Amino acid sequence: MLADKDRIFRNLYGLHDWRLKGARARGAWDATKAILAKGREAIIDEIKNSGLRGRGGAGFPTGLKWSFMPKKSDGRPHYLVVNADESEPGTCKDREIMRNDPHLLIEGCLIAGFAMGANTAYIYVRGEFVHERRRLEAAVEEAYAARLIGKNNVHGWDFDLHVHHGAGAYICGEETALLESLEGKKGMPRLKPPFPANVGLYGCPTTVNNVESIAVVPDIMRRGASWFASIGRPNNTGTKLFCISGHVERPCNVEEAMGIPLRELLETHAGGVRGGWDNLLAVIPGGSSMPLVPAGKDWADSLILDFDGCRDKKSALGTAAVIVMDKSTDIVRAMARISYFYKHESCGQCTPCREGTGWMWRVLMRMAEGRAQKREIDMLMDVTTQIEGHTICAFGDGAAWPVQGLLRHFRGEIERRIDEYTRNADADGAVREAAE
Ligand code: SF4
Repeated sequence: MLADKDRIFRNLYGLHDWRLKGARARGAWDATKAILAKGREAIIDEIKNSGLRGRGGAGFPTGLKWSFMPKKSDGRPHYLVVNADESEPGTCKDREIMRNDPHLLIEGCLIAGFAMGANTAYIYVRGEFVHERRRLEAAVEEAYAARLIGKNNVHGWDFDLHVHHGAGAYICGEETALLESLEGKKGMPRLKPPFPANVGLYGCPTTVNNVESIAVVPDIMRRGASWFASIGRPNNTGTKLFCISGHVERPCNVEEAMGIPLRELLETHAGGVRGGWDNLLAVIPGGSSMPLVPAGKDWADSLILDFDGCRDKKSALGTAAVIVMDKSTDIVRAMARISYFYKHESCGQCTPCREGTGWMWRVLMRMAEGRAQKREIDMLMDVTTQIEGHTICAFGDGAAWPVQGLLRHFRGEIERRIDEYTRNADADGAVREAAE
């Protein structure tokens, strides 16, 4: 369990002052000038050594991503873009940072911007997050007024920060779709390469990072890479915000150490599973686009919540949005509902994604009723593999994985429903025949 002294987000629940005064009392903006004085390379090395991996879902090493930016400008400006388009179902962590600790994010932007030679940053906020956007804008104004950012600020690195409000499309959380949207175009993912570090916002070198990834940077720089790396396991270091939802006694957000076992997380912070562990059916450990992990013997202790631990269970940590489903869940219908979400949010550029997401949803809806044929189960799995890895962006994978998880672990339940539907249909037919 994470010790209180190791917490980064000390106002996660909004119990204290979110404004500059309160943030400063918690340690924000402390010795920021000394951090910048270390130099660009030293900051990038420190983030690399901390082992920080992106908190937006993909888990790509943050320091390495920063190092892809050109060392010297070729005349084009460099940009930092913060992805605050938090839309993955089950995920509700970045909004708490923007609401309750916005100065950690703003300070992180300055440090990250400096490390990558960016004098300008944009924070792209999800369309539905009106309250969060207002808080963030107010905090940015405070930072300008205190000359913490802006031209000729006290830190000696000119830095402008713009908060941009999206229009509520899930796909704008994909980094290149986000850049398109920021440029005022339709939020549709770009073909890669070129990658944003070479050709990003307005054709200039750009790095896109998640809110949590940036907000932890000031603490890593103040407390040191070795402190951050000492939490969790090798390759899975640091603290992480977990969003616990679904059939637990007390759904909540909590900052915990990476690598905490599922049982410890739920029992310590969420009051355990509703109706006890025997009542548990399955868990999605990382947001709705990740495969579910079914309940099994001793699995709650062996499901280690970090990147490698979830991969070992054929799932992924994603955004660390832990969705708990007890035995009252209609698991086939639940996955059909998730499929509907992805069908609705597909941008439609790629045929496998545009056509496949709707196809998967329609078949799953029939399977939820048992109104299908058993050979369609293999056909559905085949369709998911034709979507996965065959699209412009990772959305296609994220739409296919939950369906694959269902078929991998609950095939017997689908077959049972088909058998039951067939039996009932046969019985109805016999009754009709007898009546005629
Ligand atoms: Fe759009 Fe889907 Fe293709 Fe991504 S995978 S670009 S969301 S159609």
